[in-house]
Amino acid sequence: MAATAVLLHPTTPPDYHRIISPTLQIPSNPQVSIPVGILACQRDPLLRQINTTVVSCNVSQPAAAPSGKKTKKAVLTPTLPSDPILEVILHDTVIFPEGGGQPTDTGIITTEEGKVWSVVQAKRHGGQGVHYVQVKDGNLESAIQAFTPGSKVIASLDEAGYDRRYDHMSMHTSQHLLSALLETRLNLPTLSWSLTSYPQPCYVEIPRGMSPEEILSIQTEANRLVFEGRKVHIEVEELDRDKERPVEVLESGRAVGRGLPEDYTGGVKRVVIIDGVDKNPCCGTHLPSLHNLQVFLLPHTDALSRSSTTSARLYFLAGPRLIAHTISTHKHLVDTSTILSCGAPLVPERVSQVVEERKKAEKRVGDVETELAKYISRDLLSALSESSEAVFKKHIHRTDDSTNPLGFLSSIASALTAGVLPEMKPHVIILSSSSSVQTSAATTVVLVSGSDDKLVKAAGDALRARLGVKGGGKGQKWSGKFTGVWKESKESATVAGILKEINQ
Ligand SMILES: [Zn+2]
Repeated sequence: MAATAVLLHPTTPPDYHRIISPTLQIPSNPQVSIPVGILACQRDPLLRQINTTVVSCNVSQPAAAPSGKKTKKAVLTPTLPSDPILEVILHDTVIFPEGGGQPTDTGIITTEEGKVWSVVQAKRHGGQGVHYVQVKDGNLESAIQAFTPGSKVIASLDEAGYDRRYDHMSMHTSQHLLSALLETRLNLPTLSWSLTSYPQPCYVEIPRGMSPEEILSIQTEANRLVFEGRKVHIEVEELDRDKERPVEVLESGRAVGRGLPEDYTGGVKRVVIIDGVDKNPCCGTHLPSLHNLQVFLLPHTDALSRSSTTSARLYFLAGPRLIAHTISTHKHLVDTSTILSCGAPLVPERVSQVVEERKKAEKRVGDVETELAKYISRDLLSALSESSEAVFKKHIHRTDDSTNPLGFLSSIASALTAGVLPEMKPHVIILSSSSSVQTSAATTVVLVSGSDDKLVKAAGDALRARLGVKGGGKGQKWSGKFTGVWKESKESATVAGILKEINQ
C-alpha cells in the first residue's frame, strides 16, 4: 500500500480563550467593532479567515515622515506604499494590529464583489484595530464604495501573512516562557524585549550578563517544558485601571517591561497563561501550547552600556526562525569547509591557521619590499652620481597589485633621500605604480621626490595640469592619483616630457 500523508491545519482548542468575568461580552452587533483584546486573532490565533462586516472606512492621511534616526520599530513595520490607503475598521478580524512588542500582521480583505485588497499594516487606534488597505489602482471613489459600512467582507491571513504571524507567535510565546524562567530560576527580570525582523534572533534585555552554564540550564528547562507541550490559554475580563499595579522599577531606575499603553481604550484586561509556568498581561497572539516550539539560546550575552546602568541582551530563536537559522549557519559552515578542504569540525583550527599564515606572509612581503626598495634606490643613486646633466631626472613606472602601492614607492623615495650625499647634483624622480588590470576606473599612484622644493613643486604642478593627477605635497615630496588606463606610449611619454621641461 502506498504511503500517504495528510496535512492537517492545526486548530485552537475550545478552552484556549476564557472569559472569566460574567459581565464581559463579545459584541455581536455587526455595526460595532469588537475591541482589541478580544478580537478573533486573539481568541483563536490559528484562525486564518473570518466573515465579517465593515464598520467604518476613512481615507488615511499620511503621517509626516519621522525625523532623526529610525526607531527599531521602523525595521519591522512594512513600509506603506505610495498608493492611497484606506483605514478600515471591521466588526471582527484575524489580522492582528501591532501591540505588546508584537509587530503588525499583513493580510487580505475580500469585498462583496470578490475583489481582493491588501492589508499592508494593522494598528490599534485607542481600542480599535484599524486595517491599512492599499488602493492599488488609485481609484479612491470605488474603493470607498467597496468598503461602505455594513457591507460584508472576508478578512484573511494569506500564505505570506500566516507565515509572518506564525513566526511572530513562535517568538512571542517563547519570550514569555524564557522571561518566566529567567525571573523564577535566576531572579533576572526582563527589562525589555525585541521581536526583530525575520530571520534575526530576537532578544530579551536583562540586568546582567549570564554565564554559559546559566544559559544552558535555562535552555534545557525551557525545552523540557516544550517537550511536555505545556498548554497556553488566555483569560480576559473587564479592565479596571485603578486595580492595575504600576510597572516595577529597579534600583537602577530601569522599568521592568512596559505597562498597559496609556492610549488603550478597549476596556479589556487580557492575561496570557502558560500552565504552571507564567501568567502575564499581554495583548499579543500566542500559540495554544509550547508543543514543537524548541527554544535555542545563543550561548552568550551582549553587554549594553547606558548612561548610568549596564544591562545585557540574551538572544533566542524558536519555531520557523530556528530552522532558518540552522539552515543558514550550516550553509556558511559547509561553504567555508569546502573552501578550506576540511571537515566542518576542523574549520576553526584551519581558519586560525590561515590568519596566522597571512600575518606572517604580510610581514615577509613588508621585509622584502624594504629590501627591494634599497636596491632600486641604490641603482638610482649610482645613476645620479654618474650623471653629467645639471639636474638628474628619472621616471620609474611599476606594475604592482599591492593594496598599498604608495607605501612601496615611499620606501624607495626614503631610501633614496637617505643615500644622497651633499656633493651630489640636484635631482627630481617621478615614481608611478599601476595595477595589472587596467580599466577606466583603475588608479595609478604617482610620487615625486627631489632634492629641493622648487623642482618637486614644478613636477607636481605639471602632473596635475598635463595628466589630471589629483594630489599635493610639501617640501621634497609630492604624491597623487591618476584615474584611467596608464599607457607607456601616452602617460609615461607625457611624464618624460614633463621631466625634460623641468629646469632649475
Ligand atoms: Zn507578551
